[in-house]
Amino acid sequence: MGDNLSKHVKSALIVGGGIGGPAAAIRLAERGVAVDLVDIEENWGVAGTGVTLSSLTCRALCDLGFADELMEKGKLHDGLTMCDPVGNVVAEHDTPRLYSPDVPGEGGVMRPVLHDMMARRMEELGVKVRTGTTVTALDQDDLAVTATFTDGSTGTYDLVIGADGMFSKVREMVMPDAPAPVYTGQVCWRAQMPLPPHWTRAKMFMGPVKVGFTPYAHDRMYMFLLENVTDKPFYEPDELLPKLKALLAPFGGELAEIRDAMNEDTPILARPLEAILLDRPWNVGRVLLIGDAAHATTPHLASGAGMAVEDAIVLVDELDKAETFEGAMESFMARRLPRGKLVVGNSLKLGELEQAGAGMDQIGPLMGQSLAAIAQPY
Ligand SMILES: Cc1cc2nc3c(=O)[nH]c(=O)nc-3n(C[C@H](O)[C@H](O)[C@H](O)COP(=O)(O)OP(=O)(O)OC[C@H]3O[C@@H](n4cnc5c(N)ncnc54)[C@H](O)[C@@H]3O)c2cc1C
Repeated sequence: MGDNLSKHVKSALIVGGGIGGPAAAIRLAERGVAVDLVDIEENWGVAGTGVTLSSLTCRALCDLGFADELMEKGKLHDGLTMCDPVGNVVAEHDTPRLYSPDVPGEGGVMRPVLHDMMARRMEELGVKVRTGTTVTALDQDDLAVTATFTDGSTGTYDLVIGADGMFSKVREMVMPDAPAPVYTGQVCWRAQMPLPPHWTRAKMFMGPVKVGFTPYAHDRMYMFLLENVTDKPFYEPDELLPKLKALLAPFGGELAEIRDAMNEDTPILARPLEAILLDRPWNVGRVLLIGDAAHATTPHLASGAGMAVEDAIVLVDELDKAETFEGAMESFMARRLPRGKLVVGNSLKLGELEQAGAGMDQIGPLMGQSLAAIAQPY
């Protein structure tokens, strides 16, 4: 590997402290880049549910240095049990240990727990974080970008990274003609509950809807369910519990017991799924979009978070290898756009098959092919 990073970037501003932003901050600060990070939320990182760590997401976070903490504070395991609607096992899928033979290949973690891990690492590395703050303008020439912040202050940087999520304002600023996210026809329901002691891996139940469970701590798991809804809905908070129980009504066995134990205290979220893929360079000069700002996917391959982390890792890799900043952006795109197309494209196809009522004979092969592809080196 080359060592050109410091030739191209000595200072960086990161807009957005979700998952991709902190990953980029950590990777750059580890290499001596002076990093500022702003997030529009005052109380950033407090909210959130479980994140499933696919093999892609799990490896990316481990590559970033979080293997031990994920094993301690999340729950890593080695695969997925597929069941019919009443809980009969129809298949077992083993997940390869992509990071190391000592670290299980997939798992789950609570988003605030992941946020704490990343925030602490940024603090150790001297990343300057400002919350409740964002950028109002970005002006650049060939060598630098001057950012104006909401508090009226300004700063000049060699690189600005827009990691401000699916509805990115940085994207609007630098690519006003970029497409907007599109509703995909499904709503993702998530609920948290105790982990049955005998469940050692993820579980999925294939019925009229798809229901999955991800352990995210040693005694907790979250459920996800994908509902097909033609027009993008909005559900009031008091509708959530009865509606989720109705969606789970066709299931029997253990899943019925879990459904019946759900009550007003069960944390439940319902989120219409939207997606976007920028099929063009993700940078305009020295402003680069990463993560959901460039490629927001649906959760069918549980890999959106990992894709954001991979972006950060590949960015530093390519800045090191390339002789020019422009060359680094080109080689970054050559690695990331095909992977973005794979993950977003196949996730959307899986969602379309589910909405068309396809059976496992159609969904299974695409899922298998997608899981093999995301396990390839990035
Ligand atoms: C229902 C659902 C379930 C999912 N499940 C999984 C899963 O199981 N596994 C997985 O790997 N991925 C999953 N994903 C995808 C994953 O959550 C995203 O891909 C990932 O969070 C992207 O990270 P990011 O840093 O790009 O954006 P985000 O995590 O969205 O972070 C964006 C950050 O930018 C901040 N921000 C927003 N606007 C501004 C602004 N104007 N200025 C400054 N800051 C701003 C926000 O406060 C936030 O902190 C799921 C997504 C959805 C919708």
